[in-house]
Amino acid sequence: MTFTALLVEKDDDGTVSAAVRELDDSRLPEGDVTVAVEYSTLNYKDGLCINGKGGLVRTYPHVPGVDFAGTVEASQDPRYRPGDRVVLTGWRVGEIWWGGYATRARVKADWLTPLPGALSTRQAMAIGTAGLTSMLAVMALEKAGLSPPKGEVLVTGAAGGVGSVAVALLARLGYAVAAVTGRPEAADYLRDLGATTIVARSELSEASGRPLESERWAGAIDAVGGEMLARVLKQMKYDGAVAAVGLAAGAAVPSFTVIPFLLRGVSLIGIDSVMRSYDQRVDAWNRIVADLPMEKLEAMVEEHRLSDLPELANRILAGQVKGRAVIDVRA
Ligand code: NDP
Repeated sequence: MTFTALLVEKDDDGTVSAAVRELDDSRLPEGDVTVAVEYSTLNYKDGLCINGKGGLVRTYPHVPGVDFAGTVEASQDPRYRPGDRVVLTGWRVGEIWWGGYATRARVKADWLTPLPGALSTRQAMAIGTAGLTSMLAVMALEKAGLSPPKGEVLVTGAAGGVGSVAVALLARLGYAVAAVTGRPEAADYLRDLGATTIVARSELSEASGRPLESERWAGAIDAVGGEMLARVLKQMKYDGAVAAVGLAAGAAVPSFTVIPFLLRGVSLIGIDSVMRSYDQRVDAWNRIVADLPMEKLEAMVEEHRLSDLPELANRILAGQVKGRAVIDVRA
């Protein structure tokens, strides 16, 4: 049998290229569950893997795709049977293991999560790694004491994948949501998702030179990092919490100081969606089903095919993809 995949290869001269190929099943990696993949998505990390950037891919040829949803075809693990619908996020799948940009994937049973009954495989991927990460961030902020009466919650990189789901989720939970975006044309989109305030990226992207600024935010989900994270920390209300999710603007935070932690009791919480235990994933997916406004999900989705991915990869690395890019791998 064969399957179709986006194969990323590296030439002898180090040039990385990606193309859709028909591959023999014998090329699938070791694993106890084989899944007929229906949908995957494009995440920031996928953009890096398709272009061979960031040192994420260790061996070539490689099939990227950090998440997927589909139906079990064969299983050597008693927890899964043919016909079961499953979703996979994390565990370095799509980075060091062949991932979701293929009509067939073989993985370890431990990495899979049963698809919550209420979700289609397409909805699961409209949510995907970005949505799971947003949910984990919200749960972490709640654990740190955040609740709607405490004040406005800031979301950075708001028109991106993580940001879009975070805005919709927080709004449904009753929070006043301020959305930071560098795209003025995305303001209506963000308001439709539930943002109450739009903040221009330029307002927060430059260093301020002051150790603290006026208190503005009770909580924040930051997908951007870089200087913006330092500005957000300086603007947190007393006892506020920031969930650090991403680094779209860079990993280094040049003007970082401990002052917001010492003088305002601010918390900075790191969110990692990759190495989540089975129970943590099931909890988060159940919360997503309960709390995410599914009617808002479709507004975030653009659907694409495997052959669109090389061009899409460049767009996501340039911060130009809006919402969630869902890939129908069978198209
Ligand atoms: P997207 O590209 O979809 O979104 C990132 C958004 O950040 C962009 O849409 C843009 O939003 C903003 N942005 C991009 N470049 C800059 C810049 N130079 N300065 C300021 N803002 C910028 O990516 P994702 O939402 O998929 O991922 C966001 C980040 O989260 C990535 O770094 C990713 O690796 C990380 N991530 C982490 C996870 C975890 O487990 N911790 C899981 C998933 C993702 P706008 O146009 O609105 O300004």
